[in-house]
Amino acid sequence: MSRVFNFSAGPSVLPEAVLKQAAEEMLDYKGTGMSVMEMSHRSKAYDNIIKEAEQDLRDLLQIPDNYKVLFLQGGASQQFAAVPMNLMKNGVADYIVTGQWAKKAAEEAKKYGKVNIVASSADKTFSYIPDCSDLPISEDADYVYICHNNTIYGTTFKKLPNTKGKILVADMSSDILSQPVNVSDYGMIYFGVQKNVGPAGVVIAIIREDLIRDDLPEYVPTMLKWKTQADNDSLYNTPPCYGIYICGLVFKWVKEMGGLEAMKAHNEKKAAILYDFLDSSKMFKGTVVKEDRSLMNVPFVTGNDELDAKFVKEATAAGFVNLKGHRSVGGMRASIYNAMPIEGVEKLVAFMKEFEEANS
Ligand SMILES: *Cc1c(COP(=O)(O)O)cnc(C)c1O
Repeated sequence: MSRVFNFSAGPSVLPEAVLKQAAEEMLDYKGTGMSVMEMSHRSKAYDNIIKEAEQDLRDLLQIPDNYKVLFLQGGASQQFAAVPMNLMKNGVADYIVTGQWAKKAAEEAKKYGKVNIVASSADKTFSYIPDCSDLPISEDADYVYICHNNTIYGTTFKKLPNTKGKILVADMSSDILSQPVNVSDYGMIYFGVQKNVGPAGVVIAIIREDLIRDDLPEYVPTMLKWKTQADNDSLYNTPPCYGIYICGLVFKWVKEMGGLEAMKAHNEKKAAILYDFLDSSKMFKGTVVKEDRSLMNVPFVTGNDELDAKFVKEATAAGFVNLKGHRSVGGMRASIYNAMPIEGVEKLVAFMKEFEEANS
């Protein structure tokens, strides 16, 4: 068996310890004589799995008691619709568009109400985070929406927008658990888990209780009402049982790593190795402004498409895989989520140095 260094933006690398434990428990989960995949979601064993997963996430993020944690399906994209359906009262929402995921979320919300784009960085291919200290927030906005970390473009909010008292909603799919979060700054946080937490399909929502309402329009599907899921402790129907189990193992791994402060220090150290190299290299350049650089997704280019393609090809052959940039940006992107070891980034940088010497 040989494992590669997997820089995929998602689904992405998971901690080896978690994969090993899942393998060990595959045929017989803790003496039940069956796999987690085979057990009833109403069983005692599964009840423990989902409750422990929730508690571990609550511990890690220090989620206040007046927030519900929901384990949902449909990925992050499903919440693009669920957010406006559940939060629009006046039928108005303000979106800050800092990349494709925020843009998609705004487009989806337009189906359910009026959407104002109060800030955007589309003018410079989303290579920065706009100043959000004094935005034209709508008087009657039901919420203000951000994508906290822009997976495709590699930017991140270092400072939250001034929402002028409105509820803040954040898609944290690609940076949840990479650093501490002050949950009470938000009305709602959600994340598809396949970037930093687990297998694709599961989406976790953290929602302030007073925002979970019953007075929704008739058309809202039962499954998309947060109230349905909250009243049933995420067990209204069969949840993505196995995926949630893996998320639970990852939460325990993050705890063992020392929690979110330790994760942050680890990620800062790791990202600095790559960014420092990009800043000193004559061949490779980062694509976003320094102040807004993501700790998780690092896009870079050589400025020459042929050279980019050659680099990706040779890197793949050397065991550094999934470095090709998103089709909308080109070049390369190294996603260096929690589970990417420092060694992976050190070796990648050493490889980049060799490539630069050999090709200049
Ligand atoms: C990957 C990603 C999504 C889409 O997730 P799906 O689970 O495929 O719907 C949405 N937002 C962000 C920030 C992402 O990184």
